[in-house]
Amino acid sequence: MSDGDILAFDVHPHAHPTSPAERAARLVNPGFGKVFTDHMVTLRYADGKGWHDGRVEARAPIPMDPASAVLHYAQEIFEGLKAYALPDGGVSLFRPEANARRFQRSADRLAMPRLPEQAFLDSIAALVEIDREWIPTAEGGSLYLRPFMFASEVFLGVRPAQEYLYVLIASPAGAYFSGGVKPVTLWVSEDYARAAPGGTGAAKCGGNYAASLAPQAAAIAQGCDQVVFLDAVEHRYVEELGGMNVFFVYDDGTVVTPALTGTILEGITRESILTLARRAGHEVRERQVSFDEWRADAASGRLREVFACGTAAVVTPIGAVKWAGGEFRAGGAEPGPVTMALRQSLLDLQRGVAPDPDGWVYRV
Ligand code: PMP
Repeated sequence: MSDGDILAFDVHPHAHPTSPAERAARLVNPGFGKVFTDHMVTLRYADGKGWHDGRVEARAPIPMDPASAVLHYAQEIFEGLKAYALPDGGVSLFRPEANARRFQRSADRLAMPRLPEQAFLDSIAALVEIDREWIPTAEGGSLYLRPFMFASEVFLGVRPAQEYLYVLIASPAGAYFSGGVKPVTLWVSEDYARAAPGGTGAAKCGGNYAASLAPQAAAIAQGCDQVVFLDAVEHRYVEELGGMNVFFVYDDGTVVTPALTGTILEGITRESILTLARRAGHEVRERQVSFDEWRADAASGRLREVFACGTAAVVTPIGAVKWAGGEFRAGGAEPGPVTMALRQSLLDLQRGVAPDPDGWVYRV
């Protein structure tokens, strides 16, 4: 199958779908990642055969041989994006082509086959269509989509597998900040690094997240919400959080985010914020920011706001920052005006209530 081919998914609807009353009950307070829709999409790959056997079927456990390669060498990648219910009754996705392309780059890094962009988009359209009723309509709600692919070949050798399974599942999610947007506190990890040059930091592979759990636990043990990583070589430059990119806003209106050096995940929200900030008249820079510079600029007052961004929380203000040597305020106690304005313009775009000059809103 080449990038231009259309792949059909055989649809096998759930024999006993969730009743409307039960579904409504589960959508009341879905939280994140705990409630799942009735269906999933599966698609197989085998060397010599390519992508085949696309199905939309009842969500169910995946039979797995104990020698499946992914269980041993972690050849696995994933994506995360949201479907939104629009005011006119339609459904939108935000820049899903960018997720499809990042999924391909992740596949390249993990020596996996590329899923054609159109197959990625079609799988999402097929699942959203059959599970449309699961999209929360409450303020701030969305249907979180989780495409992933893993080495399913039954083989214990250390080499790229010859068989893969692509799966798409969906999970209704509530508003990330149910009680209003609140600043989070960060722990600066000086012992652990997230990604080293030449490693897998720019890929969205499960292993990166496994490696981030101990530093995240250290952050929680320090009374912080999230860990922020420094570069692995000099332990000086700010990289990103475990699952979000980071931005700095200065008193002259300049908006800065760490440059993509190959060790940072290229967030789609990050790229969107850069565009929106530029359009709002901010000077925008992608450059290295050292932790020393961060502390000095926070102390002098030159640094006004710091926020993190990603699909899950959209834009999250950062309040206090702690490290082994002490603690300081990243920005004000309340979310800053630039942070909140950028957050609002992104939300308005995603919800289809703002002009969309770049064609970021993708209707399904
Ligand atoms: N960095 C990491 C490590 C992440 O896992 C994510 C979430 N995908 C992001 C940044 C933000 O990326 P996006 O804006 O595409 O969700």
